Amino acid sequence: MEFRFTDEQRQIVEMVAEFVDDEVVPIADEIDHEDEFPRELVDELAELGLMGMPFPEEYGGAGLDYHAYPAALEEISRGSGGLGTIVAAHISLAGNMLYEFGDESQKEEFLTPVAEGTDIGAFALSEAGAGSDVPAMDTVAEREGDGYRINGGKLWISNGSVADTVTLFAKTDRDAGSKGISSFIVRPEADDGFIVEGTEDKLGDKGCPTAELRFDDLWIPEDRRLGEEGEGFVQALKTLNGGRITIAARSIGIAQAALDEATTYSQDREQFDQPISDFQAIQHKLADMDTKTRAARLLMHDAADKKIRGENFIKEAAQAKLYASEISREVANEGIQIHGGYGYTKDFPAERFYRDAKLNEIYEGTSEVLRNTIAAKLLD
Ligand SMILES: Cc1cc2nc3c(=O)[nH]c(=O)nc-3n(C[C@H](O)[C@H](O)[C@H](O)COP(=O)(O)OP(=O)(O)OC[C@H]3O[C@@H](n4cnc5c(N)ncnc54)[C@H](O)[C@@H]3O)c2cc1C
Repeated sequence: MEFRFTDEQRQIVEMVAEFVDDEVVPIADEIDHEDEFPRELVDELAELGLMGMPFPEEYGGAGLDYHAYPAALEEISRGSGGLGTIVAAHISLAGNMLYEFGDESQKEEFLTPVAEGTDIGAFALSEAGAGSDVPAMDTVAEREGDGYRINGGKLWISNGSVADTVTLFAKTDRDAGSKGISSFIVRPEADDGFIVEGTEDKLGDKGCPTAELRFDDLWIPEDRRLGEEGEGFVQALKTLNGGRITIAARSIGIAQAALDEATTYSQDREQFDQPISDFQAIQHKLADMDTKTRAARLLMHDAADKKIRGENFIKEAAQAKLYASEISREVANEGIQIHGGYGYTKDFPAERFYRDAKLNEIYEGTSEVLRNTIAAKLLD
C-alpha cells in the first residue's frame, strides 16, 4: 500500500490542526480539570462541519473519506482525548448506525441533525453484565401496540447524558441469543422513561460524559427500529469494526501529543549543564516513540484503505486499533519518564496523555478480544 494525502485531504487536516492548536490545546487542561461537556467547543466543531465528517452532504455531512476523517480525528484527539471520544462516539458509532441501517426517512429526520452537530449522538450497547459478551444483555424491547416497550439499563455510554439521539440495543427475542437483538432510535428529551442515573468519575477521557442509563417502561413507535428485528448484533459488530479505525486515530493523536511535548521538554530541561536531549538514552526514547506512532498511523490508513475499497477490513481494523492503543499508552508512559518528577505532576500534560491513552485499550473491543478476532481470522 502506498498512502499519500491528496491536496484536498491535506488542506482539511491542516485546517483542523490549526483549529486544534488555536482553540483546543489552550483549554485542554481546563476540560481535563472541570470534566464538563465542552458545549461551546462542540458547537464550533459543528460550524466547521466536523461533527458529520464522513456523511454525505445531502444528510448535512462534510463528505470526507476514511483517510481524511480519521486524520482529522487524530488532530482533535491530539488536542483533547475527551473531545476525541465525544466526536468518535457521535460520528463513528451513533451517526454510522443511522447512516448504514436507517431508512430514508430515519436518515432525514435523525441523521441530518446529528451530522450537522445540532443533535448529539450516543451508542448504547454495553451493560453492567454485558461488555465483551454482548448477547448477555438484559435490556428488552417487547412489542406493544404499534411499537415497543423498553425496560433495562446501559452502562458506560459516551455522550449518554447529553445525547439528543441514542442508538439503543435491546432483546426482542430473549431465547435467540445474538440473533434476538434489535436496534432502535431513542430520543431522551421526548421519550418518557429515559433516565440518566449518573456519570462515571473516570481516570481520564474527561469532558466526555460516560453515563449510566435506565429505561423504565420507555415506549417508542415501530418506525424507530433500525433495520429488521434480530439484526442488531450484526449491526453493532459492523459499526464497531469501522469505529476501531477512529479509536486508532484517537490513540495516535494522543501519542503524537505526548511525543511533541516530550521533545520540547527534553530540549528545554538541562541537567549536568546540558539539555537532556543530548543524552542518547533520551534520544532513543524519542526515536522509539516516533517510530511506533508512525507505524500505528500506517496501520490505520491501511485499514481505512481496505474500507474505502469495499474489501473486508475486520482484521486490519482490529490490528490498527490494537497496536495504536498499546503504543499510545507506551509512548505516553515514556513521555512521563522524559519529564522525570515533573511528568508525575499536573504541571505538565504528560500525565493527562497517559490517563487518556489507557482507555483506548478498553473500549470498542479490549486488546484481549481484538487478539481473539485477529487470531480467528488467521486460523480461518
Ligand atoms: C470510558 C468508557 C467509554 C465507553 N463508551 C461506550 C459507549 O459509548 N457505548 C457502549 O456501548 N459501551 C461503551 N463502553 C463500554 C466498553 O465498550 C466496555 O467496557 C468494553 O467492551 C469491555 O467490557 P467490560 O468492561 O464489561 O469488560 P469485560 O468484558 O468484563 O472484560 C474484563 C476483562 O476480561 C477480558 N475478557 C473478556 N472476554 C474475554 C474473552 N473472550 N477472551 C479473553 N479475554 C476476555 C477483557 O479483555 C478484560 O480484560 C465504554 C467504556 C468506557 C470505560
